[in-house]
Amino acid sequence: MANNDVAFPTLSDSQIAMLGRFATTRRFKDGEYLFQAGLAPVVFFVVRSGKVEIIDSTGDEPRTVTQHGPGEFTGDIDVLSGRLSLVSAVARGDTEVLEIAPPDIGRLISEDQATGELILKAFIARREQLIASGFQGVRIIGSGTSRDSYRIRDFLTRNRVPVTWMDVDNDPSAAGILRNFGVDESALPVVMCEGQPLLRNPSTRDLAFAVGLKQAIGDTIYDLVIVGAGPAGLAAAVYGASEGLNTLLIDSESPGGQAGSSNSIENYLGFPMGITGAELTGRATLQAQKFGARISTPSAAVALDDDGAHLTVSLEGDESAFATCVLIATGADYRKLDVPGREQFEGLGVYYVATPTELVSCSGADVLIVGAGNSAGQAALFLAQHTRQVMMLVRRDDIRRTMSSYLADRIDAAKNITVHYTTQIRAMHGTARLERVDIENTTTGEKRTIATPAVFTFIGAVPRTDWLPPQIDTDPKGFICTGRALANTPGWTRKRQPFLLETSQPGVFAAGDVRLGSAKRVAAAVGEGSMVVKFVHEYLAEVHENVALDIQADIPLTTRATFGHSRARRVTSDERATS
Ligand SMILES: Cc1cc2nc3c(=O)[nH]c(=O)nc-3n(C[C@H](O)[C@H](O)[C@H](O)COP(=O)(O)OP(=O)(O)OC[C@H]3O[C@@H](n4cnc5c(N)ncnc54)[C@H](O)[C@@H]3O)c2cc1C
Repeated sequence: MANNDVAFPTLSDSQIAMLGRFATTRRFKDGEYLFQAGLAPVVFFVVRSGKVEIIDSTGDEPRTVTQHGPGEFTGDIDVLSGRLSLVSAVARGDTEVLEIAPPDIGRLISEDQATGELILKAFIARREQLIASGFQGVRIIGSGTSRDSYRIRDFLTRNRVPVTWMDVDNDPSAAGILRNFGVDESALPVVMCEGQPLLRNPSTRDLAFAVGLKQAIGDTIYDLVIVGAGPAGLAAAVYGASEGLNTLLIDSESPGGQAGSSNSIENYLGFPMGITGAELTGRATLQAQKFGARISTPSAAVALDDDGAHLTVSLEGDESAFATCVLIATGADYRKLDVPGREQFEGLGVYYVATPTELVSCSGADVLIVGAGNSAGQAALFLAQHTRQVMMLVRRDDIRRTMSSYLADRIDAAKNITVHYTTQIRAMHGTARLERVDIENTTTGEKRTIATPAVFTFIGAVPRTDWLPPQIDTDPKGFICTGRALANTPGWTRKRQPFLLETSQPGVFAAGDVRLGSAKRVAAAVGEGSMVVKFVHEYLAEVHENVALDIQADIPLTTRATFGHSRARRVTSDERATS
């Protein structure tokens, strides 16, 4: 099928009849907006008569992206994410459409596989075509020497929001735009989103609301709240939502986790040529949304409580998510170098991932990598393609003890990668950005200063469990104990043994890198995330059984031990007080 047929298919009469079961008919007059960029989520409309023009207004002049005629439909992948639309849709001629609400789109995609596949493929192809067509998306104007500029670019890019970066230090047109908007350079970075007022150095949370990434969570009691959208959390969301669990997935940054920053995952089953972490986790995100999982970013969990009725995950910014079961899939955080100057250059030359966002500051230069694991090896090979020289600083005298041999072989063969054994960074220097680092060979005592704009650090990770209550057992390093590792835990009060991935708190599970004894691999995290859903079902069955027993014993609803179940509403404190 030609690319355009995939992106803009025409539905058959029988397909339209099937969609009609989920739809409401709406009529628009010539020139009326069906939805407007930046002001409302993109809507799935099937055109019955008339035409719908899709317009991109992010460039200097508005331009027509496409025109949908009868049998064609509006929308791209943001129909599933519920984000604000990137483009506008306008009726051309009096137009009749079928409107299908977001929850029904997931249902119809699952119910009619062939039509669902056609729609999904069109959504994906349209986004690809939009980006390839020079779509500017969100414009960020800032300076390469500003940490906030990096924060904003990094956040939007990781969340797959199309952006155009304009550096005031190198791009003369940026100054012109600032003058037109009457913006002083002291207000930088500024963010220009279609349909929104100009944002001056917004917090990540405000930015997320402005681009529609962050949506209110509400007071539903979810069957399953998953904290962390790396491979483990994403897998649990796909399996949970596809098996009918009301599922919420939250992440403090973006879906993808550590894997999302990998430039080539070559040991994940089924991808003989390798796949980038962004693509693998991007597909998984879409898959979870297709099955109806709700995703919210940035939503950082800061506490977990059990009030006897349900679990509460408190989030940064005074929000809470309520659940019958919680999965902790918060993975691990990058360990930081303990050297003078490091803190000053975080985001300004000191990085923990190597992606195109970081290349902006070091393309064509000499860069340093610290570490000797697989993530360091992958980063070295990626950076070698875009920089002049990559120096790998390794604490020991061998990389083959810590790195897969296929990566070590490629590093040996790469002409512009040099490995410096028993060598460590001693200090970092610069003014606005990182400029130089002092290194020392700990065997010979030789000291050197290297001019470089970027140091990439891959020296292991620590589990992200500092937000958890003491009831969740961890080992001394903070990795969560589950299943058999909890045998004989004094706090465990149930008659049954903990499920395989259950923590010391019944109904709270852990999967992936955060779990004691995990394999620290994408496939293992995906496996655990998928498997945990079975135990969630068993736990929910246990809860429902208890509720049934409570009903037999005539215990009032609001005082039952556990009553959370699919789409239940949280009992308010007033109701509790009066029951
Ligand atoms: C650069 C790199 C390359 C790699 N390459 C490979 C490879 O080729 N093959 C392989 O098998 N493995 C690879 N790995 C390892 C692999 O990525 C991890 O094992 C895997 O990502 C672990 O998945 P996870 O879901 O357990 O946790 P993570 O991927 O760590 O995801 C955890 C998520 O939780 C979120 N989070 C943390 N705390 C909170 C909180 N309080 N509230 C809300 N959200 C929170 C984080 O933002 C993150 O998105 C690589 C790792 C790195 C860093």
